[in-house]
Amino acid sequence: MKKLENKIALVTGGSRGIGAAISKKLAREGATVLFTFSHATEKAQAVVAEIKEAGGNAVAIQADSSDSQQITDTVNAAIAKFGHIDILVSNAGIYIGKAFEDHTLEDYERIMSINVRAVYLAAHAVAKQMSAGGRIITIGSNLADNSLSSQTTLYTMSKSALQGFTRGLARDLGPKGITVNLVQPGPIDTDMNPSNTEHAEFLRGRMAIPKYGTGEDIAGLVSFLASEEGNFITGSALTIDGGFNA
Ligand code: NDP
Repeated sequence: MKKLENKIALVTGGSRGIGAAISKKLAREGATVLFTFSHATEKAQAVVAEIKEAGGNAVAIQADSSDSQQITDTVNAAIAKFGHIDILVSNAGIYIGKAFEDHTLEDYERIMSINVRAVYLAAHAVAKQMSAGGRIITIGSNLADNSLSSQTTLYTMSKSALQGFTRGLARDLGPKGITVNLVQPGPIDTDMNPSNTEHAEFLRGRMAIPKYGTGEDIAGLVSFLASEEGNFITGSALTIDGGFNA
């Protein structure tokens, strides 16, 4: 029996990058995977097709994490269809990098709505029906512990909020047998952070292992946390960054 057999997983932002790798990995481990995306319909369909070709089960749902109603409706519809959610992976996130003086209120509202509010709302909707063995896993960033350069203020602030969220919620849900953890990647080769730029060269220079990670590296840790093997890890921020923060 596969280690996530009979589990229902909801992953936000599964059409590309880290979220796509997580969706594929959880499906390979036997979970039925529902994942959201905002715009990339064709890429989302390609992820579903790849999962199904490999014998897995996946559904892509267009839902914008910046819209609180869409997040809550998506979780509630998933629960109505499948009865429950066992694994929530809040992965969708954006980066806004600009000089602090150029920030607008819209920048603040947008990054906080996707990187923080949607994480909170999805967990809130899921927790009401989640039973013992449930998993709430959020994708943060190693920058929450090490804001490496200028122009990271908004992003770092949003990812740091997830640390407090994780610690608090672990205590709220621990008595129900639900674990809550934060995975903090370092440089991972995706559309958000391509490995072939001048900035990437700078980032590699800060790493103990001077090479970018892959979505699969992150998916492996998420899958471990989601499985029975991760049952005693909760309230933790697990950094997976090739030694960037070492
Ligand atoms: P990408 O930009 O490559 O992919 C982002 C994914 O999130 C896409 O599937 C995208 O959907 C989805 N998404 C973005 N905005 C929304 C929204 N408003 N509503 C719903 N879905 C949305 O990012 P990564 O894969 O690199 O990043 C994934 C997570 O990992 C993020 O939280 C990021 O902050 C974090 N992270 C990434 C690092 C890296 O180096 N790559 C390092 C540390 C943390 P669509 O395709 O439809 O646009």
